[in-house]
This record gives sequence, structure tokens and C-alpha cells, in this order.
Amino acid sequence: MIEAPLGGPSLPQQRRLVTDIPGPESQARLARKKQYVADGVAAGLPVFIVAGGGGVLVDADGNSLIDMGSGIAVTTVGNAATAVAERVSDQVHRFTHTCFMVTPYDGYVDVAEALAEVTPGDHAKKSALFNSGAEAVENAVKIARVHTKRDAVAVFDHAYHGRTNLTMAMTAKNMPYKQGFGPFASEVYRAPMSYPFRETAGVKGEDAARRAIDVLDKQVGADNLACLVIEPILGEGGFVVPAEGFLPVLAAWCRDNGIVFIADEIQSGFCRTGEWFAVDHEGVVPDLITTAKGIAGGLPLAAVTGRVEIMDAVHPGGLGGTYGGNPIACAAALGAIETMRGQDLPARARALESIMRSRLEQIQAAHPVIGDIRGRGAMMAIELAEPGTITPDAARAAAVNAYCHSQGVVTLTCGTWGNVFRFLPSLAMPDELLGEAMDVVAAAFDATA
Ligand code: PMP
Repeated sequence: MIEAPLGGPSLPQQRRLVTDIPGPESQARLARKKQYVADGVAAGLPVFIVAGGGGVLVDADGNSLIDMGSGIAVTTVGNAATAVAERVSDQVHRFTHTCFMVTPYDGYVDVAEALAEVTPGDHAKKSALFNSGAEAVENAVKIARVHTKRDAVAVFDHAYHGRTNLTMAMTAKNMPYKQGFGPFASEVYRAPMSYPFRETAGVKGEDAARRAIDVLDKQVGADNLACLVIEPILGEGGFVVPAEGFLPVLAAWCRDNGIVFIADEIQSGFCRTGEWFAVDHEGVVPDLITTAKGIAGGLPLAAVTGRVEIMDAVHPGGLGGTYGGNPIACAAALGAIETMRGQDLPARARALESIMRSRLEQIQAAHPVIGDIRGRGAMMAIELAEPGTITPDAARAAAVNAYCHSQGVVTLTCGTWGNVFRFLPSLAMPDELLGEAMDVVAAAFDATA
């Protein structure tokens, strides 16, 4: 039997289907969901999960599915990873909550110390902890505004930063995130992204950065910008890796103009891309970095980490919230970070990339609808377009996704046109199981041709 490399429940690491997907037990539960859960909260693959670990999720019918989504890039160290589960269960028996703003505790400070160590740059750093990615992004903007005494926020085409009012304004895509939910926050300005697949061949990263800077300079004015917020690799927007040179030129422009450069690494951070953070691939050091998802192995935790002089611009009491940095979530984060350090998970992400990339290239050779293969580490995607063009083929992406689901592989799509098929395996995914997931993807392209 294949063992999950990072522990967790001793679930057989195998794909095993015993019913149709969804099976009768899941279908019965879906009827209850329909009765009690708001329709706005939809499910991409409606099987009800009863266990997870390594690279698999087990559903209520006893099907064992290969998990290629990790709950949207969250269970990077695996589901119920041993170090996370042990620290959580120890903490939950000692105390569950005090509110750090009322009476502090070590776990919060331990996480802040670890963040200062693992995030890019060797300058002095401080952190503030929150519950969700959107909350971290909102707070990063608040901090930048106080520090700069400016209002405007620069964001990019295809960006995703969350679903709260400010972060909806920062998110690019209307459906399903914004439709009907306005009016949105003001002083948010959008610049063009570097998107190599959709660009005239040969446009350099530096040129794409100057194009964005020109828009911001002329339409907003550098002096009015508090911050520039960018995902170093787009997440929901389609795993777009900007051309080399794009991020460093933007960062330098921010530095020269007193604009706080904020890397939103909520999806790309914590070893996912084969480095601790995606900006590390180009040696870019952000002023502030927002993290969440992979930070805590599945518990809700998020952070803003950055330069002391920026973080400390906010008056005492200006940052916080009832649950931010909850002790159980902090215990989980310390377990996840210990695992990432102890097991060299950036290297593991690079190993998974090489398995996925070579298989995806083979599939592309037979299926020219795959216009682009991109991503880094265990954050890989393929963009589907009419062969030889950039015309999105969302219908094919949906068909491939549905086939994978029916065969017991949990896959996700993304992208502004819904035509990107993304892969976010846990770093506890055994090689053999990842290979089997790629076999199913190949079969999905054959079956939907
Ligand atoms: N920023 C990025 C880059 C994200 O990928 C996400 C979540 N997909 C968010 C922010 C929002 O995080 P949350 O869903 O935890 O609010």
C-alpha cells in the first residue's frame, strides 16, 4: 500500500470508486443541503467528505477520491497532517480562546516570529493575524493607508483578493463574485497584468510593467497611491505567471514613489510554488505580504507581515478582531510550518511540478486545445483555447472537469473565462497517486475530444 508521506489518518492512498459520483449517501445529504444551506453557497463536486489525508478524500459512500484541489490550496501539508492534528488537539484541551486583544498567549507571538523568519527579506518584520485571506488584504490596505496618508489602491486585471466589500472592488471578475453586490469601495484602480499567453509574443516583463506603470501614473498619479497589491502568480485569475522582470520593475517603481508594495501570497505562499513564497523566484522583497490558506493546514488563519515601520504606523487598538490569531489556528500553523521546514516541502513541490509538467506536455501533444501549460511547483494549470488561437474554450474545460469528477479525481477550474484547469495537489500526495490523477486527466481529454 502507498503511504502518505506526511502522515495523517491512515487512509489507503488509492482511487477507489464503489458508487457513481455522487453516490446515494451523498445524494441524500445533498437534499438536506438544499433544504438548509443557502443556494448561493454552491459545491463544485457534491460528494460529502468523511475523511481526508495524504492525497485522498473519502466520501460518505466509501469512494476514495484523489484530491487535486487541497480545498483551494489550503491543505498543503496534507489533510489532518500529523503535526497539525497533534498540536491542535493539545491546544484544544488547554484553552480554546481568550481573544488576543484581551489577554495574549504565546501561540500568536510564535506564529508572528515564524512569519518574520520565513517571509522574504532579512529586515525587521512584524505581523498581525486574522481569520481569512480577504480580511488580511483589507488590513494590509488599512495599514498602507495610515503609513502613507494616501487613499488610492492599485490592483491588476484578473486579480482575486476576496469577497468583502473592499476586496470585491479589488477583485476583477464580475460573475460570480461581484454581480449584484455593489456599490463597491472607491479609490481602487486597475492596471494591465503581464499575461504571456495572451500577449504579443516577445513582450518582455519590463515592458509589461512599464505599461502598467504608465496607466497608474497617468490615470491615478503615483503620489496618490497608498499601495499596489498584486498576486505574484494569479490564483483564481488563472495561475498566470507574469513574464520575468514584471514584478521587480513594479517593486522598484513602488520603492521610488513611496508606494507600499503588497504581495498577496494567500494562494501562492507557503511552499506551494517550489519556494517558500512566489516572489522568491525573482528575489522580490515586498513591503507587506498577505498569507492565509496553506499557513495553517486547514484551520482558518491569515496574516499581514511586513516592515516594522509600516506595520507600526497604526495606532494601538487599530488592528484586531475577536478571533484573529485564535490559539487553535495558531497551533495548527506552528504544526504546518514545522512540517514545511522539517520535510523541505519547497523541494517536494518542485518534484510534483516535474511529474505534472511532463505528463501535461504529453497530453498537450495529442490535444492542441491545451494552449498553455504554466505555473510553478504544485500550482500548475492548463489554459484551453481553440487550437492555435487565444479564444477561450470554457466548454471543454467544464467537460474535462466533469469527466475527472466522475472518475474520482477532485479537480478545479479557474480563470477569467473559466477555461483554465488547475492542479493544486497537497505536498503529501504520493507520486504514484499524482501519476494516476494525470492518467485520468489524459483520459478526460480523449473522452471529450
Ligand atoms: N487573495 C488570494 C490570492 C486568494 O486566492 C484568495 C482566496 N481564493 C483570497 C485572497 C481570499 O481569501 P479568503 O477566501 O480566505 O478570504
